[in-house]
Amino acid sequence: MTKIIDGTKIAENLRKKVHSKVKLLKKQYNFVPGLAVIIVGNDPASKVYVKNKIVFTKEVGMNSYEYKLDEEISQKKLVDLIQTLNDDPEIHGILCQLPLPKHINESEIINVISHKKDVDGFNIKNVGLLNTKQLSLVPCTPQGCIILLKSYLKNLEGKKATIIGRSNIVGKPLVSLLLKENCTVTIAHSKTKKLDNITKNSDILIAAVGKAKYIKDYHIKRGSIIIDVGINRVNFSENGTTKTKLVGDVDYDNVIKKAGAITPVPGGVGPMTIACLLNNTFIACCRIHNLNEEVHFNT
Ligand code: NAD
Repeated sequence: MTKIIDGTKIAENLRKKVHSKVKLLKKQYNFVPGLAVIIVGNDPASKVYVKNKIVFTKEVGMNSYEYKLDEEISQKKLVDLIQTLNDDPEIHGILCQLPLPKHINESEIINVISHKKDVDGFNIKNVGLLNTKQLSLVPCTPQGCIILLKSYLKNLEGKKATIIGRSNIVGKPLVSLLLKENCTVTIAHSKTKKLDNITKNSDILIAAVGKAKYIKDYHIKRGSIIIDVGINRVNFSENGTTKTKLVGDVDYDNVIKKAGAITPVPGGVGPMTIACLLNNTFIACCRIHNLNEEVHFNT
C-alpha cells in the first residue's frame, strides 16, 4: 500500500510544537518572537501567501508586523525599511515576499536582510553557512521536504536521491540538506538528458519543476518516496463551466500505485513551508537572545 504523507497533519503538529515553545519562551524569558512580512505591489498569489503567513504567525502566539508597499517603491526606500527592521529589537524574522517588481534588485534586497533575521534562509551568508554544514537559518520549503521524508523513513543514509529543479530556493538547498542526511544526491534540470534514466533508479525523488503533472510512472522506481514540491494552477471543466485547481509536478494518479510513499498537492509540501517559517522565526529569536533553542526548548 502506498503511504500518503500527510503534510497538513505534520505541519499542524510542527505549528503546535512551535506554539508551546513560544509560550515557554514568554513565560521563562518574557520574549515574544516577532515576524515582519513585507509585500510590494498587488500580486494576487503573493497576497494570499502573506495573509496565510500572518494568520499562522498570530496562531502560534508570535507578533506579526505587515508592511504593504506600493508597487512603485524605490530600491532605496525598501532597503531603508529593511535596515530599520534589522535594528528593531522587537523583530526577529524578516521576510520580503517574492517576486519583487522588475525595477527592484531582488538579490540586493535579500542580502540587506540581516542573516540573523533571514527566516527565508535566502541570504548569501545563510546559503554559505548551510553549504559548509554550519549553523544557519534553513530555507523553509526544503526544510519541510526533509521533515516529510523523515516522517516516512527516519534514516535516509545511503539512499539515492534525485532532485528535479536547481532553483536557489528549493533545488540547491535540498542538495546540502540531503547530503547532511548522507544521501547520494543527483540534481536534474531543464538541460538534463534522459531524465527517466536517472529518476527511475532513485529511492527518493523530489520534484520542483513547475510543470503540472510532469512526472509519470515511468520516471519513478517502484517503492520510492516521492516529494512533490510543485504548485501549478490548472483549468478543468465541471458541469460545463471552467474551474481551476492546484496540481503538483507529479502526475499523482499515474504514479500512486508504483510509489512507496508520496506527498499530495495540495496538502503535502505547501503547509510545511509556513510551519517551517514559524519554526525559523522561533529559532532566530532564540539565537538573537543567545538561547540555545535545542537545549532550552526541547519539547
Ligand atoms: P523555478 O522555476 O525557479 O525552477 C524550476 C526548475 O525546474 C529549474 O531549475 C529548471 O531547470 C527545472 N526544469 C524545468 N523544466 C524541466 C524539465 N523539463 N526537466 C527537468 N528539469 C526542469 O521553480 P522553483 O521556484 O524551484 O519552484 C518549482 C515548483 O515548486 C513550482 O511549481 C513552484 O510553484 C513550487 N514551489 C512550491 C513551494 C511550496 O511551498 N510548496 C515553494 C516554492 C516553490
